[in-house]
Amino acid sequence: MTFSWWRRGGGGAANAATATGEAEWGMAGDGRGGMIPSQSQLQRAGTVRVLLLSALLKTFMASEAAVVHTGGCHCRRVRWQVEAPASVVAWICNCSNCSMRGNTHFIVPAAKFKLQAGADEFITTYTFGTHTAKHTFCKVCGITSFYTPRSNPDGVAVTVACVDPGTVKHVEYRKFDGGNWDNFFRTSDIAGFSKDKAEAAE
Ligand SMILES: [Zn+2]
Repeated sequence: MTFSWWRRGGGGAANAATATGEAEWGMAGDGRGGMIPSQSQLQRAGTVRVLLLSALLKTFMASEAAVVHTGGCHCRRVRWQVEAPASVVAWICNCSNCSMRGNTHFIVPAAKFKLQAGADEFITTYTFGTHTAKHTFCKVCGITSFYTPRSNPDGVAVTVACVDPGTVKHVEYRKFDGGNWDNFFRTSDIAGFSKDKAEAAE
């Protein structure tokens, strides 16, 4: 959506700038009938481009801006809030555990996730295999509303279906081939999802 807007807006304005430039270049020639634009014409064309780029950036940042999602387990003893964009990337994993639970989750840096006071006393943890992933679930209702994935031990995987309705505007589903964990992890960008944007850019 953003991209097509940019193409239309950018293309239109670029054409307008070119048309204006051509009309004026004829008059502001170099005296030998050349088509050299004046300094002010170049500056104007430059300003148009800068304005377009900043509008594009603002639109992009709005879609990336974090909102506070709330959610938790079925019996509501485990409640949390998480800062994440309204548009999230959710992983459908086919490992032995996720496939049984039908777990589809988006990953955030651990610092973006806050458990409600008192919730920890209702959480229990299951581990298997490498024991890196901490499969946390509510000991009363059994729901895994979040857990610590093996791919992102510095992050939290939030179960999409456990987020309260209203704040998640778009979900991009991706498959994580947990059945071939090592091979898939090597070629996937999933590890970056628990890093802060600034940190990841370093
Ligand atoms: Zn519960």
